[in-house]
Amino acid sequence: MDVLDAKYPFFASAREAVADAAVSLPELVATDAPAVERGRERVERALLDGTVESESGRFPDESDYDTQGELLSYPIARILVSLLDSEPAIEKYAAAEAATAMDRVRGDLATDDGLRSVPTPTVTLDDLLDEFDLEDAVRAEGTAPRSGSAVGGSAAGRAPVGSGGGGAGPAADHYRVAVGAYLSLTSPSWGESWRLVNRALADGAVRLPRDDLLRALESAVTERVREGLPFELADDGGIAAELESGVADLKRLLSERTYAGPVDVVAPDLFPPCMTNLIEKAERGAELSPPESFALMAFLVGIGMTPDEIVSFCADTSLDAEGIRYQTEYLRDDRGTQYPPPTCETLANYGICHNEDDHMQVAVDPLAYYEKQVAAADEITDWRERRADEGSENEEGADATD
Ligand code: SF4
Repeated sequence: MDVLDAKYPFFASAREAVADAAVSLPELVATDAPAVERGRERVERALLDGTVESESGRFPDESDYDTQGELLSYPIARILVSLLDSEPAIEKYAAAEAATAMDRVRGDLATDDGLRSVPTPTVTLDDLLDEFDLEDAVRAEGTAPRSGSAVGGSAAGRAPVGSGGGGAGPAADHYRVAVGAYLSLTSPSWGESWRLVNRALADGAVRLPRDDLLRALESAVTERVREGLPFELADDGGIAAELESGVADLKRLLSERTYAGPVDVVAPDLFPPCMTNLIEKAERGAELSPPESFALMAFLVGIGMTPDEIVSFCADTSLDAEGIRYQTEYLRDDRGTQYPPPTCETLANYGICHNEDDHMQVAVDPLAYYEKQVAAADEITDWRERRADEGSENEEGADATD
């Protein structure tokens, strides 16, 4: 087992590493090994925070990083999420595993680009494409079609594990993706620009900037994680029985933190300071970090806004419509929002909350704080009504000048 297996536990090589290690999962669970608690944390953070990164923040290049525990926590998490018996939970878990993995991939590629020099094992784009059998479907723009070898025109094959990657060399800005692969990796529901008709298409290949290619690959990771879930687990004792209390804890946590229904009123003046700060930051044109944009989107979905409303609400910010639609897709289910935004504690850890006016005393998360504010307000004008009024005034103004 090596660090790359722990970083990317859905890779085939990681599965083999688990099999080769001949570790008994029931035994791990029975002895309450560290992997079990980490597996539980993985699911909890996936469902509540949209990431599976450990709150301890240990990184693979730290000496006390528990490679084996980290890797084994993945199959444990998959068992736990199966036992939750909830389709939205599975979707959310798979999306969080994929989002976390792709954050790591971006970090690895930055290393390969020479933008930073951390001596940890990294994957290359070649590795990722090979993993999903896409090596012949994607090539860096300006390079010859791959003939069983390189992506991007450099040396072939998977970089030796632990080498720091380097198989793809400096990354290209644009790639050509075979149209079949493009259609299976992407969805028109991500926004207009993802519709094939809006992409440059030549010789059976779609032209994609690197960021879009990575977003498309994130869906391949989501699919890989999603595969085989939920497991069928016998409920006659064994591992399901051993994990019963962990599953009960997760269910309790979810029911405590799942709202009966969204507040369904949009009153920006009553938003908690953390969300106002994020909106103002985006209005200044600054990019939000992934935890920041996740927290903001989860909050806006949580108060009952539709993706269209969020796009309109964020029209004058650095947040782009496609990114908003992509993120909100995983935050909504048929009943509206299933999972609330991260807790105040988590947001404080990310530096998003500064606990203004000490109001952590009154709420566990921004949505709970907002609900209290709404309940205490005398009169509220919903932003949606204001927007509708402004729209009809503009129409009347236009008619008057016709
Ligand atoms: S205490 Fe909670 S609601 Fe208030 S600013 Fe911090 S994260 Fe937001």
